[in-house]
Amino acid sequence: MRADPAAAACRAVPVGVIGWPVAHSLSPVMHNAAIKALGLNWHYLALPVAPGQVGDALRGVRALGFRGINVTVPHKTAVMASLDAVAPEAAALGAVNTVVVRHDAGGTAFLYGTNTDVAGFTGALLAGGHDPVHDRPALVVGAGGAARAIVYALLTAGVSEVKVLNRTVAHAEGLIADLSTRCTGRGHLQAVALSDDHLVSLAREADLLVNATTVGMWPHTEASIWPDGVPVPAGLTVYDLVYNPLETRLLRQARRGGARAIDGLDMLARQGALALALWLEASPDEASPGGTSALDVDAMSELMRQACWDVLAA
Ligand code: NAP
Repeated sequence: MRADPAAAACRAVPVGVIGWPVAHSLSPVMHNAAIKALGLNWHYLALPVAPGQVGDALRGVRALGFRGINVTVPHKTAVMASLDAVAPEAAALGAVNTVVVRHDAGGTAFLYGTNTDVAGFTGALLAGGHDPVHDRPALVVGAGGAARAIVYALLTAGVSEVKVLNRTVAHAEGLIADLSTRCTGRGHLQAVALSDDHLVSLAREADLLVNATTVGMWPHTEASIWPDGVPVPAGLTVYDLVYNPLETRLLRQARRGGARAIDGLDMLARQGALALALWLEASPDEASPGGTSALDVDAMSELMRQACWDVLAA
């Protein structure tokens, strides 16, 4: 008897991402590519959830048989109030990007929140050839949600000094004040007003520069946080979280100066592969008829990266 694709689709286990807006997200592309490669009867959905509706959305996740969800802007903090437990790292960071649905013996859903952005960033940094444990300062430009995860990742990786440069310096001060209370006893944090002079002079002493702003993102692809006509120091690693376009102006400037350049797509793919690994661990029988062995996160993130790249390059 031939398999009935329509019937299989009706039985597909839902996973997805909640955000507002979320239609632009690459997560469905990369997760559905991974789901197909693994032969799972799962389907990953982009789920627009308006601010204030997160509690209702999470009740739906419990009731509708979801195996897990990703959480993106602006819900990463608000979602924590609707979970049964939060991983220590996500609680310390104050942001959840992955919810795993577990079930007790009676079948009751238990929602566990964690954060794979931090490990995604650190893994991408290491894969890009940069060892983040150095005595020279790291510069993070930006003070929004992404910067928060990056600063936390650098502190937990043992970087002794992180300078947070931001257009609105009060936002950098707020981020530092908040993270300082959550990660006591770790590296030194300093807020700096973002200007060309500050950036260029601090970059001479630093070994890592992370762009965690939206500067350079499509459609403003000719914008860069780095000023024109000033060479990027050759000893610097420049990591641009922007992944659309993949080759940003900042990364071109870095390569021209002889600096190491790392694009934002690897972090996106790695945090996704890590989330998928957690969902598979939580449902091994369903995930694979033969029983699930641990997911090869490196291989899966490469596949997910390629799926995103195919869309971005089209
Ligand atoms: P966000 O919370 O909205 O923060 C935006 C940041 O950009 C703020 O610090 C803002 O400064 C700064 N900014 C905006 N326009 C600027 C300008 N013209 N000049 C200087 N600074 C400017 O955004 P987010 O969620 O942190 O995301 C930041 C970037 O990271 C986005 O491009 C996003 O796509 C990317 N991202 C990538 C990944 C990945 O996996 N690769 C993951 C998450 C995010 P003010 O405080 O002064 O407004």
